[in-house]
Amino acid sequence: MTSLTILGATGSVGSQALDLVARNPGRWQVAALTANSDAQGLATAARASGARFAAIADPAAYADLKAALAGSGIEAAAGQEAVCEAAQRPGDIVLTAIVGAAGLAPTLAAVERGATLAIANKETLVCAGPVVTAAALASGATLLPVDSEHNAIFQVFDHAQPDRVAKIILTCSGGPFRTRSRAELAGVSVADACKHPVWSMGAKISIDSATLMNKGLELIEAHHLFPVGLDRLDVIIHPQSVVHSMVEYIDGSVLAQLGTPDMRIPIAYAMAWPERIATPAARLDLAAIGRLEFEAPDLVRFPCLALAWEAMRAGGSAPCILNAANEIAVAAFIAGQVAFLDIDAIVAATLARVASGPVGSLGEVIETDRRARAEARAQITARA
Ligand code: NDP
Repeated sequence: MTSLTILGATGSVGSQALDLVARNPGRWQVAALTANSDAQGLATAARASGARFAAIADPAAYADLKAALAGSGIEAAAGQEAVCEAAQRPGDIVLTAIVGAAGLAPTLAAVERGATLAIANKETLVCAGPVVTAAALASGATLLPVDSEHNAIFQVFDHAQPDRVAKIILTCSGGPFRTRSRAELAGVSVADACKHPVWSMGAKISIDSATLMNKGLELIEAHHLFPVGLDRLDVIIHPQSVVHSMVEYIDGSVLAQLGTPDMRIPIAYAMAWPERIATPAARLDLAAIGRLEFEAPDLVRFPCLALAWEAMRAGGSAPCILNAANEIAVAAFIAGQVAFLDIDAIVAATLARVASGPVGSLGEVIETDRRARAEARAQITARA
């Protein structure tokens, strides 16, 4: 059996991974599960999956977790260090499904011990890509993408001949507001923004999909996972989300991975790699779908994608500043403190005001992240 640790086990990706574990008895032994504050959800998942260790980031939730695990024999722990300990404990695969830069320290802990990582937590690669990839090189850790686009690219990428890749093309559904004007976006609610037309996901990534920041974060993620050069990365809108991304080669051939929009396909691919296993995902019926559409992204209506592109080109800590500002702005939108269109304005203002520098160490990333969050909060206060 392969031992598996899931960081962020109570979320959308984490619970879909646990669904696959339950459907495949004897394939994975769950070593550890983590959550932020959902003690009941974590305890239920730990009991159901036979986990040995359950760690909750919020120390205030420890008593609830302990009580919910009483008599199970499952070890409970709390705090950020406990989440890192879950990542450090021996285990073959670590699925990183924490949302946001909070995943950085535990991801690095798993990378530094040379684990195989199934990476969903894109924000970690965005804010600390050079640190994570250098640590993986040093430890021999394997990084497998879970994000459906990157998983698709991974499946069709000629790893032996990366210089034969002409272009990586990330597909993007366009989100719930694909056809709306800027004026129409002014008053949209959190519920509107979370109503993704194709994918069912956690709140933060749903809002990132509505602003197209998600695609911007994915561009930066692709830049670190598939180092073909910035000029060979592209984005195309594809509302049906059937083609999950494409790789164009120098001879003009374009290879794509297709499937129904069910995250259990890329999660299973990463968790069982290099094997393929059956999943309960609906089969693709192209005749029923009938039509696949593509269009260029509109960077004027969706400036977050343009900001991410600029941050990626600027390099250094600019992507970390972008990510931190976005996390703060999205949280403020969810909390009703700012409007939807304030998100890109806050990110732009933060990028303009926080000095960017090199990203050579975890300490530098944490310090940049801290300064960017402080500036983004100041922007929110100024708007309020
Ligand atoms: P969710 O919000 O559904 O779940 C997030 C998970 O992270 C929960 O287990 C949560 O615990 C935990 N968590 C949140 N904050 C912290 C923290 N500060 N410290 C430790 N744990 C924390 O997110 P998703 O599953 O939607 O997304 C997870 C990651 O995967 C994101 O980076 C996202 O971009 C990426 N991704 C998601 C996809 C999807 O379909 N959902 C698709 C592709 C990528 P608790 O429940 O206790 O709050």
